[in-house]
Amino acid sequence: SGGSEFVVVANRLPVDRSGEGWRRSPGGLVSAIAPVMRSRQGTWIGWSGAAGEELEPFETDGMHLVPVPQSSDDVRLYYEGFSNATLWPLYHDVVAPPIYDRTMWDAYVRVNQRFADAAAKVASQKAIVWIQDYQLQLVPAMLRKLRPDLRIGFFLHIPFPPLELFWQLPWRRQILEGLLGADLVGFQLPGAASNFVRLCRRLLDARYVKQDVFWDDRIVRARSFPISVDVGELKELTERASVRERAAEIRTDLGDATIFLGVDRLDYTKGITQRLQAFGELVGDGHLKPGQAVFVQIATPSRERVEQYQLLREDIEQQVGRINGEYGELGFPVIHYMHSSYDRAELAALYQAADVMVVTPLRDGMNLVAKEYVACRSDLRGSLVLSEFAGAAAELKRAFQVNPYDIDGLKAILLEALNADPVEQSRRMRSMRKRVIEHDVNRWAQDFLTALEHSHVPLP
Ligand code: UDP
Repeated sequence: SGGSEFVVVANRLPVDRSGEGWRRSPGGLVSAIAPVMRSRQGTWIGWSGAAGEELEPFETDGMHLVPVPQSSDDVRLYYEGFSNATLWPLYHDVVAPPIYDRTMWDAYVRVNQRFADAAAKVASQKAIVWIQDYQLQLVPAMLRKLRPDLRIGFFLHIPFPPLELFWQLPWRRQILEGLLGADLVGFQLPGAASNFVRLCRRLLDARYVKQDVFWDDRIVRARSFPISVDVGELKELTERASVRERAAEIRTDLGDATIFLGVDRLDYTKGITQRLQAFGELVGDGHLKPGQAVFVQIATPSRERVEQYQLLREDIEQQVGRINGEYGELGFPVIHYMHSSYDRAELAALYQAADVMVVTPLRDGMNLVAKEYVACRSDLRGSLVLSEFAGAAAELKRAFQVNPYDIDGLKAILLEALNADPVEQSRRMRSMRKRVIEHDVNRWAQDFLTALEHSHVPLP
């Protein structure tokens, strides 16, 4: 056959191992793209998640999957190294110092080339190729070199930093030229698209008009497409009797205390330390009473082989121990800390049980947890405390917004969110729900693909 008309390239395949076979991974991105995959004979190119594994292409759930192998050195240098110890902190305001290591860079180039080669092989003539995220920023230009006929889109799920920070990167020019291989470069926020265009001008001396960059006899469009959640899936979950019963059970188990909730990957960008500090001080000050208020913090294990993540885990666990040791009473710890991962139904129950959802990243591309909380509160109750530095803050204007570096401000907003009367809560929640329901993840995927279909513009 002539290959696929629609190709997605992402670091990971959209499936996880389950027993002998494979199961579709949870999450909005996969569910938004799966229908397009089915209707357009789509192929998804990505890594299986197991180092050293060589697999033939296979079908699951109506999707054609092409595995790209990664050796354990690739995982260490390209994935844990350049992607998560260099690009991740650099793109999140250098909240941790990025590591600049030439061996990691070499691995990043090598693995990106492997993905580009795989995409060039499976795409049909003039196919649409959609490349995902910061691990694959060189793929657009590598692929264009091999296959100039393709229409290439790239979406960055994390922030794109201001020029003053990006300038640190020893390979800044290569990354920028890599991205410019795309016809459409998508970002979460308009500010990120502006950062990109400004960088093209200053670093490459490229001409531009508004957010169109003129490069290599083509027009490269920079646009924003805020990603969102699968509202239909969350609605179904919240209406499920078992989920409602579980929410009631959680409340009872916690002694009918007021529940503050945090749900995050254990990552230094998430501001977990700051929020626990603020909560601990509120208990110390006597504003909150052990037994009457609890903080439930879910911290999903993440990137556990990267040193900064190991140190962060130790810090947070010491902090939790300190606060519970100081203020907890027999049978009433003030913080319930769980270092594990939960399924969608359990999260929906937790969202329904929480009085105050606390989302305080120091920098976050979007933050889906904030949108999931809103999508799960059809009862119009509960308050959302949201960092100004989360991408979601641009849309969720009626959240209790806060600067998470300001511990006193954080303490004040936690109390304000807690004490908001039900009328005020429902006014805020209704307005946030309108936004999330109208702009769900399907809309995000459609908007991106429609824009991509109108891109690929040769210069006049
Ligand atoms: N999540 C999950 N189980 C957990 C914790 C989180 O399924 O135990 C999901 C959560 O529902 C959300 C995603 O992981 O959809 C996290 O996305 P977000 O944008 O908030 O942060 P990221 O981890 O991508 O930085």
